Amino acid sequence: MHNETLLPESTPEGLNEFRPNIDPARLNHAPGTLVDKYGRRITYVRLSITDRCDFRCTYCMGEEMTFLPRHEVLSLEECLQVAEVFAGMGVSKLRITGGEPLVRKQAMWLIERLGALPGVDNLVLTTNGSQLDRFAAPLKAANVKRINVSLDTLRPDRFKAITRIGELAKVLRGIEAAQAAGFTRTKLNTVMMRGVNDDEFVDLVRYAVDHALDISFIEEMPLGEIHGRSETYIGSDETLARLGEHFDLTPSAESSGGPAKYWRIPGSETRVGFISPHSHNFCDSCNRVRITARGELYPCLGQNDAVHLLPILREFPGDTARLRQAIMDSMGIKPYGHDFTAQMDAPQVVRFMSMTGG
Ligand code: SAM
Ligand code: SF4
Repeated sequence: MHNETLLPESTPEGLNEFRPNIDPARLNHAPGTLVDKYGRRITYVRLSITDRCDFRCTYCMGEEMTFLPRHEVLSLEECLQVAEVFAGMGVSKLRITGGEPLVRKQAMWLIERLGALPGVDNLVLTTNGSQLDRFAAPLKAANVKRINVSLDTLRPDRFKAITRIGELAKVLRGIEAAQAAGFTRTKLNTVMMRGVNDDEFVDLVRYAVDHALDISFIEEMPLGEIHGRSETYIGSDETLARLGEHFDLTPSAESSGGPAKYWRIPGSETRVGFISPHSHNFCDSCNRVRITARGELYPCLGQNDAVHLLPILREFPGDTARLRQAIMDSMGIKPYGHDFTAQMDAPQVVRFMSMTGG
């Protein structure tokens, strides 16, 4: 059994009361780049291109969802304008997400242009995999570097229960299509849920090893009004300990530029990651902001403050300077971190994850 715990240790509760001593060197960045008041440089934007989805995962959405009317959603041209402005401010990594990004009509029109955007050298995608068998090859051709596929179970009946609609076989075909199209280091994202999929963590890691995939386990977050989360919540340390009984896990200093801490399985290419917003707060090194399908710029996944870009895009079309200023201003409301606590049943953030894109 493995004794190591994940690093770093959790930061204090009430994180935004906490003021770190900022090294002045940390505030010294090139003019025009996006830097928050804690000296963190923003180089990564997660862009949700739709709030719609062809699944209704129980931890992500309510059963009856009302989606946004089309005019409240950024057009693909508006998404591109926003991305161009960010790229001009030094953002080099873009993640396309949703809802399910590949159900957005003409999503490839946007993705092809983002893949050719000067300064963006890391265009990546998070998907539920349902449409990947159709889109894997065009995504590769559009310069998408890497794909994350959400997969919480390998059992078809359980898959149907978790997603309320989805078909596991289609997603597995999508993963194969991604590999056939030449994607490497495709990563599975698994939300850990006690009594739902915790008996499959070992099988999921075996599947990842057998298919040369990476896998990250995610602690469930209290986004949106969904009850019963505290019964299903499992922290990363518990999963790590359980996996340690079956695999010889070696801590790795590798990073994919995100909050995951990685472990290696000797003799395989697979990295096993843990994304632990509750148990091991990673806000100190936050380098990202999120744009919702409605054009809200959320500087933090776990807080409710946002800057609204859609009115600027619609009232002042083509006014890049104004858009840029609004983005700069958002740095003023980027908090030090989220305040997720173990009180999982009350939503600590009112919007569903499908609005913000994970
Ligand atoms: N539809 C795509 C997918 O499922 O990969 C992209 C959007 S989805 C909102 C992005 C990620 O958020 C998925 O990996 C999903 O498992 C995760 N997610 C959704 N709700 C969550 C929650 N409450 N806590 C933790 N992760 C969540
Ligand atoms: Fe859809 Fe992804 Fe949310 Fe599941 S996690 S409902 S696939 S947006």
